Amino acid sequence: MEGSNLRRFGMAARILDGTRIAADIRTELVARVEACTLAARRPPTLGILLVGDDAASEVYVNTKSKAGDALGLKVDVVRLPKTATLDKAKEVVCRFNRSQDHDGILVQAPLPSALGTAAESTLFEAIDPTKDVDGFHPTNFGRLAQGRSVFAPCTPSGILELLDRSCINLKGQRAVVIGRSQIVGKPVALMLLHRHATVTVCHSKTRDLSALAREADVLIAALGRPAFVTSEFVKPGATVIDVGVNRLVDEAIVKSLLPPSSPRLQTFARRGSLLVGDVHPAVRETAGALTPVPGGVGPLTVAMLMVNTVRASEMHLGKAV
Ligand code: NAP
Repeated sequence: MEGSNLRRFGMAARILDGTRIAADIRTELVARVEACTLAARRPPTLGILLVGDDAASEVYVNTKSKAGDALGLKVDVVRLPKTATLDKAKEVVCRFNRSQDHDGILVQAPLPSALGTAAESTLFEAIDPTKDVDGFHPTNFGRLAQGRSVFAPCTPSGILELLDRSCINLKGQRAVVIGRSQIVGKPVALMLLHRHATVTVCHSKTRDLSALAREADVLIAALGRPAFVTSEFVKPGATVIDVGVNRLVDEAIVKSLLPPSSPRLQTFARRGSLLVGDVHPAVRETAGALTPVPGGVGPLTVAMLMVNTVRASEMHLGKAV
């Protein structure tokens, strides 16, 4: 339905409801979870390594555990203190690799800085690629680049599901990705390319960023800068995917972003903080379709982790996937 990308003059953007789409994906997984559980005589199982006490990581790991529980998966979280060595962390990954009882493995990032700058890539690379449900192992990233992925990273996969299930056309469309990280920007750019979009990847050194972004039919904002992408970056009618998750605590900044009538101001008053994306709320008046924060890409990331864990279980049971 190409018309979804067209500007509907005088109307606010269609809101792409990630929470609903994620619920659909989880519902579709139920029968596969039951079949795996029956065949393996245990539920599909995800091992998570959490090192240190980063508050946001705690929240993410709890969200993943709850989502797994609700679906009948087992989520086995191993915690190490922030003083743990890289060898100790690697030992946990190797234990998950050898285990007959774990189908998927995830190392929660970011890792404590004391582990060194290479810690993340060292641990991602230590994961058995057949259990690498985050898709960050070089083997899986290479397969993704070649267009024959087994496990693709969860946030980019979630973005593609969200676009597909919202009937947003990609073929021949101009896509601009702001951000080139390993976990979002690069893999989502590859996926859009495989789907026949014409893709431009931007980053902190890109010149004329807003002008480039304004050429996009589909704009992906994954830079981690609150409300950075204003209407000036958005072609009227474009589809805008807001990947950013930024917690604001400064009342003046929150008030500068939202109209006085916004119910989100009450949320801020109640909680003392507010989650906002990389896209300015006013973009709603320019975009044709837009993901909200929260409730857009975030729920899809968790749903795709569940999908990948079930896929890993099916692979280990010898099923074709
Ligand atoms: P990251 O590793 O920090 O990468 C940010 C990217 O944005 C980098 O490529 C950086 O460019 C680019 N960038 C930063 N400032 C820029 C600017 N002013 N202009 C143009 N480009 C700029 O971040 P990430 O891990 O990809 O995450 C991005 C955002 O998505 C964060 O808010 C994160 O919390 C959120 N996120 C959400 C989910 C979810 O499930 N919803 C999942 C993952 C991440 P350089 O490469 O030149 O430094």
